[in-house]
Amino acid sequence: MTHPNHPQPDLSRGRPYLAIPGPSVMPDRVLAAMHRAAPNIYAGALPDMVAAMWPDLRAVAGTAHHVAAYIGNGHAVWEAANTNLFSRGDTALVLATGRFGLSWAESARALGVSVEVMDFGKSSPMDLIRVQERLAADKGHVIKAVLTTHVDTASSIRTDIPALRAAMTAAGHPALLAVDCIASFGCDEYRMDDWGVDVTVAASQKGLMTPPGMGFVWFSEEARQRCATSDLRTPYWDWRARAQPTEFWQYWDGTAPTHHLFGLREALTMILHEEGLENVWARHEALARSVWAAFDAWGAGHSRIGLNVADPAHRSRAVTAARLGAPDATRLRDWTEHQAGVTLGIGLGMAAMDDPAWHGYLRVAHMGHVNAHMTLGALAVMEAGMVALDIPHGPGALDAAVRAMILG
Ligand SMILES: *Cc1c(COP(=O)(O)O)cnc(C)c1O
Repeated sequence: MTHPNHPQPDLSRGRPYLAIPGPSVMPDRVLAAMHRAAPNIYAGALPDMVAAMWPDLRAVAGTAHHVAAYIGNGHAVWEAANTNLFSRGDTALVLATGRFGLSWAESARALGVSVEVMDFGKSSPMDLIRVQERLAADKGHVIKAVLTTHVDTASSIRTDIPALRAAMTAAGHPALLAVDCIASFGCDEYRMDDWGVDVTVAASQKGLMTPPGMGFVWFSEEARQRCATSDLRTPYWDWRARAQPTEFWQYWDGTAPTHHLFGLREALTMILHEEGLENVWARHEALARSVWAAFDAWGAGHSRIGLNVADPAHRSRAVTAARLGAPDATRLRDWTEHQAGVTLGIGLGMAAMDDPAWHGYLRVAHMGHVNAHMTLGALAVMEAGMVALDIPHGPGALDAAVRAMILG
């Protein structure tokens, strides 16, 4: 589409930028590390490298306890967590703040877990008073585990995990706490042990900057013991040998994902040993702030445009969900992808895909291997698209984005 008064050249040539919440941008170093001949899987460099990687995987999660790895995506590690946590007929309480908690619940229900969902909608943080009341009412301690998302990637709501754990403690309830960190891992601050989390799940293709295909389940010693007899566990999903292998093949219950591992090694080095985890979190925070400031400026006087989550304390630092009014979100995404080389995320779960309102939502990812010029560039391209498409918007968004990024 071109502006009627100014036919535009194709501005999309150059390196494309996929700014969707996973798969995320992969560093060239990660890709280069994978470009090699097949390694010996019985001895030598690969087994040595993997043994040395497990402490790094624990460090990113903030745990001193166990980690089991799987060849699979996010859905795979939901199932891994569910089968190890539960026996048939056990009860799970799922706290949903968007789309992904509901999907984790569906996975558990399909396996034979009795699932109760507390759905807090698509734009608000969970109501921890209600959670506390619900747990306090479970006098027989039927609920074995609480499942939730740290960041729900559809709504971009971030849950205050320490506050959730405090509510569980205040209710005097012994349920295990299991958290989906697939969107937030390596982006948003997360401290599994300090925050009292029993099970954490994450996958390779978001903050870990590595191709889709590996997933991880970290679990506390408490979870290990209390789930020792879980009968939904099947041999492939069993976390026990994976977390404490005596032979190399047991890490993955079969052939290791050799090339993914070389990529992940490089990514962990970049995150932990070069940039440093706290700096990684601070970078995501600054990038997120710039995106929020841009939307606030675009939306001033234009109420069709706005962020999905009102309170910054409850917003993800990895992805931002926003509305632009239908059909302008879809028009803008099409323009930025085809005319400017930036692919933005679709709105997920905010409206049904066959509802015209669906075309009013989009998401901007700022997840993983992303720096200032990428996020500011994506925002500038969005503004260019609004100009090209005559989408009414407030002024000063780029200035506001720069100030928010630099001044906080
Ligand atoms: C991406 C994501 C998933 C699903 O991961 P897949 O690899 O697509 O199966 C689950 N939960 C959250 C929070 C996610 O961001």
